[in-house]
Amino acid sequence: MSVDMNSQASDSNEEDFGENFEDEGDDDDDGGDDDDQADIEDYYIGVSNDVEQQGADSFDPEEYLFTCLTYKESQRVLLEEVNTVAAALKVVPAVAKLVLVHLHWHFTQILDRYKSNSSLLMSDALVQPSSTSRTVTPTQSLQCGVCLQVVRRDALLALPCQHSFCQGCWEQYCTVLVKDGLGVGISCMAQECSLQMPEDFVLSLLPGEELKDKYRRYLFRDYVESHFQLQLCPGADCPMVIKVQEPRARRVQCSRCSEVFCFKCRQMYHAPTDCATVRKWLTKCADDSETANYISAHTKDCPKCNICIEKNGGCNHMQCSKCKHDFCWMCLGDWKTHGSEYYECSRYKENPDIVNQSQQAQAREALKKYLFYFERWENHNKSLQLEAQTYQRIQEKIQERVMNNLGTWIDWQYLHNAAKLLAKCRYTLQYTYPYAYYMESGRSKKLFEYQQAQLEAEIENLSWKVERADSSERPVVVGEGELCASDRGDLENQMHIAEQKRRTLLKDFHDT
Ligand SMILES: [Zn+2]
Ligand SMILES: [Zn+2]
Ligand SMILES: [Zn+2]
Ligand SMILES: [Zn+2]
Ligand SMILES: [Zn+2]
Ligand SMILES: [Zn+2]
Repeated sequence: MSVDMNSQASDSNEEDFGENFEDEGDDDDDGGDDDDQADIEDYYIGVSNDVEQQGADSFDPEEYLFTCLTYKESQRVLLEEVNTVAAALKVVPAVAKLVLVHLHWHFTQILDRYKSNSSLLMSDALVQPSSTSRTVTPTQSLQCGVCLQVVRRDALLALPCQHSFCQGCWEQYCTVLVKDGLGVGISCMAQECSLQMPEDFVLSLLPGEELKDKYRRYLFRDYVESHFQLQLCPGADCPMVIKVQEPRARRVQCSRCSEVFCFKCRQMYHAPTDCATVRKWLTKCADDSETANYISAHTKDCPKCNICIEKNGGCNHMQCSKCKHDFCWMCLGDWKTHGSEYYECSRYKENPDIVNQSQQAQAREALKKYLFYFERWENHNKSLQLEAQTYQRIQEKIQERVMNNLGTWIDWQYLHNAAKLLAKCRYTLQYTYPYAYYMESGRSKKLFEYQQAQLEAEIENLSWKVERADSSERPVVVGEGELCASDRGDLENQMHIAEQKRRTLLKDFHDT
């Protein structure tokens, strides 16, 4: 489950393209498209060399060290840290927990602050009243501040702020809040007093084991959520906790429920888009779902013979069943010229004069731009689903062939791997679109769109080859007919190229 992080970053994966791009002497005026085209076409030259140079074992920018902890294991991790801090600060564990939550379990930070000013740390963490706050002289009256009943002095309870209330009132207060789902964050009953109640104080007031258990579960949730190195698995009813050394927006996967998510924000993994941008994008998509709905067409007309074509595979390289014309599903352009001008398909051409135009024109342009990106985002999402079906079909076919002695599982492994890699690449490609949508135009956007186009082209090639390999009836075994062997080699080569393009694109994201 855990992999070595960062240790093998080497110069060898410095992308050649980056340097060429710098040398280009582009003055970044972002001017005419003709210039861009010439630029980009230059970059296509030598692309295959890039791939060769990188080597199959080059550093995977997605490698990230993490561990999956069970409920018990994570309890143990928390307890250890609590005991360490309690000992260092000379406080009870329940108070240490409040200090830990306050500073997100950064142990050295807690220690530093304790050494420089311990009472300030305690008042900042809301476990002791601050020296400036109005002190209450220990109650002389024997009246509860809430129910106003006169009770015996020893029946009144108070936090260090000395706001005293009767046990019954405290009980009721805690019961209501815990039933509401509160764990950490229950404060003193006195108005305008935010001193926190340590957990053992609350536990002693809660009636019944059931409610106490509930409270312990909420506490656990809050402790994990406040801990900078821990994250609860977002899978449905999954109690697992992911632990990392260094919190980052990286891909993690739960070992129990297989949920894949971004460690930092717990959303769907979203590289190369950052956490905030993907949240903004998903909110926008939800808000604009009506506008975007008409895009969800499953059929389009062949641009040559106009026959209606239904898309039932993930590949966007389409071939008309009637006239055999090869075209791109997204832009309906001729596939033959698509490769060399591919960036035209994934890149949105903004109107450079839009700022000088009317508000309506600007609004129309904004919608056009959004729909362009949304259509591609949505289309790759659909392709992912269709390719998942292809993957299923491949699995079933392999099984059937193995049963009929047409090769072994090992013989067919490459096809299985190709389908898996295709999904991985397609997923990354889908998440390039929100990023590109929000990117300011300029040099870095051009570079990003170049890499995006490269990845997109190679993914469609891979998808095309997987769909065709899937229909071959026999496994390709080394030493067998030359034609078959070259088909397999071709597929494996394509896998390698696509994965390298994916890594190149992700590298910048993960370096920052
Ligand atoms: Zn009372
Ligand atoms: Zn108080
Ligand atoms: Zn899980
Ligand atoms: Zn994230
Ligand atoms: Zn046709
Ligand atoms: Zn296209």
